[in-house]
Amino acid sequence: MKKIILTGDRPTGKLHVGHYVGSLKRRVELQNSGEFDEIYIMIADAQALTDNFDNPEKVRQNIIEVALDYLSVGLDPAKSTLFIQSMVPQLTELSFYYMNLVTVARVQRNPTVKSEIQMRGFGGSIPVGFFCYPISQAADITAFKATLVPVGEDQLPMLEQTKEIVRSFNRIYNCEALVEPDIMLPDNDICRRLPGTDGKAKMSKSLGNCIYLSDDEKTVQQKIMNMYTDPTHIKVSDPGHLEGNTVFTYLDAFSKEEDFVKYLPEYKNLDELKEHYTRGGLGDVKIKRFLNSIMQAELEPIRARRKEYEKDIAAVYDILRADSDRARQVAEATLQDVKDAMKINYFADEELIRAQAAKYQG
Ligand code: ATP
Ligand code: MG
Repeated sequence: MKKIILTGDRPTGKLHVGHYVGSLKRRVELQNSGEFDEIYIMIADAQALTDNFDNPEKVRQNIIEVALDYLSVGLDPAKSTLFIQSMVPQLTELSFYYMNLVTVARVQRNPTVKSEIQMRGFGGSIPVGFFCYPISQAADITAFKATLVPVGEDQLPMLEQTKEIVRSFNRIYNCEALVEPDIMLPDNDICRRLPGTDGKAKMSKSLGNCIYLSDDEKTVQQKIMNMYTDPTHIKVSDPGHLEGNTVFTYLDAFSKEEDFVKYLPEYKNLDELKEHYTRGGLGDVKIKRFLNSIMQAELEPIRARRKEYEKDIAAVYDILRADSDRARQVAEATLQDVKDAMKINYFADEELIRAQAAKYQG
């Protein structure tokens, strides 16, 4: 069986370091491993519209931002297909058929959807489109017969839902048209859901607590210097707490042992640094400066590559157009398999037409 990846992001803003550690970094590694037959990276504009339908301009403006972020982290159009969801209408058609296989109660149980509904303040007025987006995600994944979906932890329920749809479909229509995907979460627990710079549970475009991949050096530094730490750690001599301390969470996510040799040689590793902080006598500024050095080193090559691509925006749109065409062909083939399995092939089935005619000729 072919090894195929599908994953993507909503164009609701520029991509941030949460996306980077949660998914982008892994994608680039997988892409460059040469182990995959096909890789599809989708800009999920149709999904973004489910909760931004009143602001299509926002979605439209952010497509190029996400594309630039993709290219700047090292996603390579020669190896990966970078496409736009709405340019593949077959996905919408698949979603419509999959909706029959999912109950309202099942969608209501989806914990990510639940918390997003709350976060977005929909109250009792949840758009049906938003409510159904896990089903549309199943369409995105299965249209490309993806075997692996590298994403952050919030996507676990979506993958579960997709697997259920695949199993139901193949059972009900007695076929093997759809392929069950596996999820791939980051190995490092913290990278599965990186908190925002405000210490809130998740860095998210919609919450404005992000360090963006495209932020310039000064902005990144300011965001790090203003990061939420331990509010009880007032004097340097005070013992500090690690729990909920965003700077340490980020060090868990970003720092490597080499970074200590390079930027903070008085400590051997993160454990030593943590030990000193909890004991007292270590100031926040020093740790923030350390984190800043690490993050700037990681982000600098990304920023540099972005600058290159920014010089020819039309060429980036050309990549998206060509890749969307390619994606459409692949999704069309799956849609045909699905419709064949559901016997939606009325005109292609001469036997059906003959039999119906015979019935009426008595
Ligand atoms: P929105 O607020 O519009 O939903 P978002 O910041 O949550 O935006 P998405 O486009 O929904 O971003 O998510 C894209 C991918 O990035 C998903 O795989 C998701 O799991 C991952 N991801 C998003 N935020 C984080 C985070 N803070 N930590 C780790 N992974 C993340
Ligand atoms: Mg999201």
